[in-house]
Amino acid sequence: MSAILLGCIADDFTGATDLANNLVRAGMRAVQTIGVPDNDTVDGATDIDADAVVVALKSRTIEPQQAVAQSLAALRWLRARGAQQIYFKYCSTFDSTPRGNIGPVVEALLDALGSDFTIATPAFPDNGRTVFKGHLFVGDVLLSDSGMVDHPLTPMTDSNLVRVLQAQCRAPVGLIDHRTVAAGELAIRARIDQLRAQGVRVAIVDAVSNDDLLRLAPALRHLPLLTAGSGLAIGLPANFGLVPTSASSALPPARGARAVVCGSCSQATNRQVAAFRAAGHPAFALDPLRIAAGEDMASQALAWAWERLGAGPVLVYSTADPAGVRAVQQRLGLDAAGHLVEQALATVASGLVAQGVRQLVVAGGETSGACVQALQVRELRIGMQIDPGVPWCHAHSPLTGPEGLHLTLKSGNFGGDDFLSRAFNLLTPIT
Ligand code: ADP
Repeated sequence: MSAILLGCIADDFTGATDLANNLVRAGMRAVQTIGVPDNDTVDGATDIDADAVVVALKSRTIEPQQAVAQSLAALRWLRARGAQQIYFKYCSTFDSTPRGNIGPVVEALLDALGSDFTIATPAFPDNGRTVFKGHLFVGDVLLSDSGMVDHPLTPMTDSNLVRVLQAQCRAPVGLIDHRTVAAGELAIRARIDQLRAQGVRVAIVDAVSNDDLLRLAPALRHLPLLTAGSGLAIGLPANFGLVPTSASSALPPARGARAVVCGSCSQATNRQVAAFRAAGHPAFALDPLRIAAGEDMASQALAWAWERLGAGPVLVYSTADPAGVRAVQQRLGLDAAGHLVEQALATVASGLVAQGVRQLVVAGGETSGACVQALQVRELRIGMQIDPGVPWCHAHSPLTGPEGLHLTLKSGNFGGDDFLSRAFNLLTPIT
């Protein structure tokens, strides 16, 4: 029942997990909540025992006023739990539009915290996101030359983040450039003082390597608000005297049956489904067109799984190749197809847990959202990493006893080809 150290607000669900994963790897015990929890504090105490809490919002592409209101509600909750520093997490490709939501949320959080300055850096070198002279690179190319120009909701056409953020902010936006970051903590602090004196409220910070992020972190110890992708997190636990330890990722022992629910149709998930099947594990395919025709495929999948769960992990999937997805979308419409499949897979996930599954892998961002909702999971304790950005978690659900369940939520393109088998082996190492 201790106060939390670092309070985080993430603008989407899988981004929240990515951040929590980096914090855990650097030594913080972390819990991710689905939205702002509605329980009240008693004298500032919390029933969440963690060094960091990441409140996962879905605020990246909603109306700016709503994003601000939700972020401020998260801030109030985190401060009531004693959070000493606040971290606003956005996408490592700085996904936003000229209306926001990064700028409006950053300025609203600064105002609410009574602070006059913060930094902004989406740099995450381990994932190929680097910032140099204020320009964001995705792998070897500028953001504006990456696929992000075609993003349906937040097309990113300008790589100059000072300009991008300035368009979203009332106050001046500045830059802490690579030379300053390379010179270390004192130089960064001096630059912050200089920018503050000029009336700058937010400064984009260059970082091209993990070393840059590790040099940056101690210089930010005194700031009430930090804003970044998940990369900056690698240096923050040290500011609180914490060092990497396997204890931060400890989860309760795993038990119960094992299952995978796949709704992602990404290339990586297609390869993972193929590898899992090739390894001889039983798999049941949900056909969206048969569901649309009124067949109860979720019940069929559950009856099929019931016969097999005792013998090892089972897979229920709607994963299809691009031609298969297109054919379904042409018949049903893009949104209707997505919703139909998500609901069927969520029914399968909760049915599997009711049948005794206590180790569950879910593939797909939207699919994960639907499954977590069906399982009525409110918070996730973050455990050991399976692949970059994807940890095992432990969660409580009204569908389980007090022992809860182990859950991993994999966003589409994450994970190696053998992810599905390896995930289970990691949870209970085979001796
Ligand atoms: P990712 O993380 O790969 O984007 P998501 O779960 O977020 O995965 O999105 C996949 C979407 O595709 C979901 O809305 C899902 O319901 C939908 N879907 C899954 N299988 C099929 C299919 N066979 N045909 C059409 N849509 C599908």
